[in-house]
Amino acid sequence: MSKNFDAYALATSSVRGLAPYDPGKPIEELEREFRISDAIKLASNENPLGPPPAVSEYLRSAAADLHRYPDGSGFELKTALAERHEVGLDQICLGNGSNDVLDMVARVFVSAGDVGIISQHAFIVYYLSLAYVHANIQITKANEYGHDVGAMIQAVDERTRIIYIANPNNPTGTWSRAEELRRLLDEVPSSVIVVIDEAYAEYVAEPKYPNCIAWLSKYPNLVVTRTFSKIFALAGLRIGYSVSSPEISNLMNRVRQPFNCNTLAMSCALIALRDQNHCEKSVQLNREQLRILSQGFAEMGYETIGSVANFLCIDMKVSAMTAYQKLLERGVILRPIGGYGMPNHLRVSVGTASENSRLLDTFNSLKNQGLIWTFPWPVGWNYLLLESDWSAVRWL
Ligand SMILES: *Cc1c(COP(=O)(O)O)cnc(C)c1O
Repeated sequence: MSKNFDAYALATSSVRGLAPYDPGKPIEELEREFRISDAIKLASNENPLGPPPAVSEYLRSAAADLHRYPDGSGFELKTALAERHEVGLDQICLGNGSNDVLDMVARVFVSAGDVGIISQHAFIVYYLSLAYVHANIQITKANEYGHDVGAMIQAVDERTRIIYIANPNNPTGTWSRAEELRRLLDEVPSSVIVVIDEAYAEYVAEPKYPNCIAWLSKYPNLVVTRTFSKIFALAGLRIGYSVSSPEISNLMNRVRQPFNCNTLAMSCALIALRDQNHCEKSVQLNREQLRILSQGFAEMGYETIGSVANFLCIDMKVSAMTAYQKLLERGVILRPIGGYGMPNHLRVSVGTASENSRLLDTFNSLKNQGLIWTFPWPVGWNYLLLESDWSAVRWL
């Protein structure tokens, strides 16, 4: 290999400016690191019940066809989705996870230098997808951690090509009302593509939460994305989709990799989609446990951000990394979200009843031992302020 070869120098400046996506810590890695065996992971918003039983049954018998390429058109799954959402087959584009479709929209519509608008604290994939295509990324300030849809409308000008909105948003769990999103769609010119990411839609029971797929006939510039990673519990298989006008879907299919969705993912998605009972069970569990977690943290004196999804952000008031580390040592994986501009928060994914109670017990015992606390700081404790910034506190 040539000594002068410098891959970093050759990469585009937008890519050099990115850090690799930082996923939740895998259970196996934690157990290796700390030599423990019963770790729990509440870090990536997965469905703790696992996939519907019919999926596991199918997988045991699925090996026979794996030498064949998948159906590149995804006919069967798209047919079921079209029926479910009352749209045409030609309005759906399948992705290798919904991240894949979120990325495709940017590749179809955004040229270098075009403006894309996203919110502060929004799901990181919008930023990444815009950066890959060298967009000019405009970030509007959040309003109490949620998207400020009014500010997003205000930010639109003639250079704006795309707006991404997470509803609900990850990592904050906040959501946008039907009237806000309708106003946005009514006020922005149809030359702006509006992407509404509904990854957690099935969990939300708020009367004012919109099902934006029903609005597609009125707004040809709207793209709605959904996933099988969350309530359908197939995060490991990577399958999601967009619903849009047939024209947008046609364009997305031009940039889609020919076999972006694999055989197992599409078959399991179809099975999971038909298991309404498993979905209802998952929603029910999530509702009960989200309440138990919020209450548990409130009783310990922590504020949380009101969430309608299957996760919850806890405000540690100081850098969340100490609590994160202490919990890891005791086999509990949560998600620090400093990368989202929230260095004092930890995101907890709602687990099963026993996982959540183990989390609360572990938290409580760490707190009682004085290993993690919330503001105000106990008087006389040995800590060193490195800067006049609470997040820079280091333990002695
Ligand atoms: C988890 C999540 C997704 C889903 O990503 P997949 O690629 O489908 O696994 C999409 N949007 C948001 C906001 C999410 O939190």
